[in-house]
Amino acid sequence: MSILIKNGTVITAQDNYVADVYIEKDRIATIGADLKITADKVIDAKGKYVIPGGIDVHTHLDMPFGGTTSSDDFETGTRAAAFGGTTCLIDFAIQAKGTKMRDALDLWWKKGENRATIDYGLHMIITDLPDAHLEDMNDMVREGVTSFKLFMAYPGVLMVDDATIFKAMRQTAQNGALVCMHAENGSVIDVIVRKTLAEGKTAPIYHGLSRPTTAEGEAVNRAIALAEMAGAPVYIVHLSSNDALQKVAEARDRGIPAYAETCPQYLFLSIEDLERPNFEGAKYVFTPPLREKWHQDKLWEGLRTNNLQVVSTDHCPFCFKEQKEMGRDDFTKIPNGGPGIENRLQLLFDGGVNKKRLSVNRWVELVSTTPAKMFGLFPRKGTIAVGSDADMVIWDPNVEHVISAQTHHMRVDYSMFEGFKVKGNAETVLSRGEIIVDKGKFLGKAGRGHFVKRDSYAGAWG
Ligand SMILES: [Zn+2]
Repeated sequence: MSILIKNGTVITAQDNYVADVYIEKDRIATIGADLKITADKVIDAKGKYVIPGGIDVHTHLDMPFGGTTSSDDFETGTRAAAFGGTTCLIDFAIQAKGTKMRDALDLWWKKGENRATIDYGLHMIITDLPDAHLEDMNDMVREGVTSFKLFMAYPGVLMVDDATIFKAMRQTAQNGALVCMHAENGSVIDVIVRKTLAEGKTAPIYHGLSRPTTAEGEAVNRAIALAEMAGAPVYIVHLSSNDALQKVAEARDRGIPAYAETCPQYLFLSIEDLERPNFEGAKYVFTPPLREKWHQDKLWEGLRTNNLQVVSTDHCPFCFKEQKEMGRDDFTKIPNGGPGIENRLQLLFDGGVNKKRLSVNRWVELVSTTPAKMFGLFPRKGTIAVGSDADMVIWDPNVEHVISAQTHHMRVDYSMFEGFKVKGNAETVLSRGEIIVDKGKFLGKAGRGHFVKRDSYAGAWG
């Protein structure tokens, strides 16, 4: 199968030019002006952008949490991602305490195979790390799992101590993997949560109020200090507040390889959403929580100045009915997470490019190129270049779209962005040279997505 995309405006992190792109089998074969090549299929992309497919490096499909499971599996979640112009994601396998990381990898491979409709990689969440298991980390790197996530929050469940984090970072300093940190001071938050509940405060808003921005700033600062001592880079996941951003910025000003992502929910929503009546605030319960509105401008500024390098979603959907409702009488029992895998490119394009906060190149960089570089997928993915995978999106910058649970493809009964009007949407989506979405129709199939082995010593070291 060969495809010729004619007359589109090719946009990468650096470039912006009108060209034809010729795809042979699963890769980009030729880029040029007015190509005279015969192809099985010709697409006219005049007036449209031709961009590398989005890469979402933070998703939780089919993930057990608090006695339930996130409502999208690898089939429904990757299909929804594709509709929104995302053609690769990195999900998280979770090492169960006392077991080998390989057991978790096998389990998550099973969740993905026969289901994924786009390519996917995996990070490994480390929940315990006796010295005898340090070699496990090298084993993962050999399998292409070149990033590890550790938690400074959720004591008794996922939280690890500073010694564990330091040991893991020292190991990555040698094997070229990247440590991703959930940075919130979980021990302190736990004390605040228990006091809040003891006072009879059980509504969703207390989820937000019991996790102060200072607890995030402190943990980010500590994570960076540990990384500095270990001689390793560190990547802060789902950074939500100015307190945390300032710690990253200070470290970067000193030349420390500290990196961070934020997510659309922190750019577009605020703590007021947690106060919605009739328990609807539960739809906005995730961690870190939504912040006061003024943090949004600071995060946009961070995206502009490159103190934030990536926008991911932390897609972790739970239905309002039956799942979020588990916490009706106790906010700590509300499953933490929200849906967003489908809306990332739309929201960032509309709020970023249309609102003149980001250039169109910076938009591509934040949603595709830097994620690929940071996590060992570049230049196979994350750009439009000869030899790269033909993971591409033909993006219509002018089409208007209203985000709604009525029309989205995520398997969840609400949208965090219900009623948001955005201009710009994916029209045609290609994954390794196959058209998987075209004008609102899904043409891919479950199981066609491959697990991707990622390189070590990737962008964070460059
Ligand atoms: Zn997450």
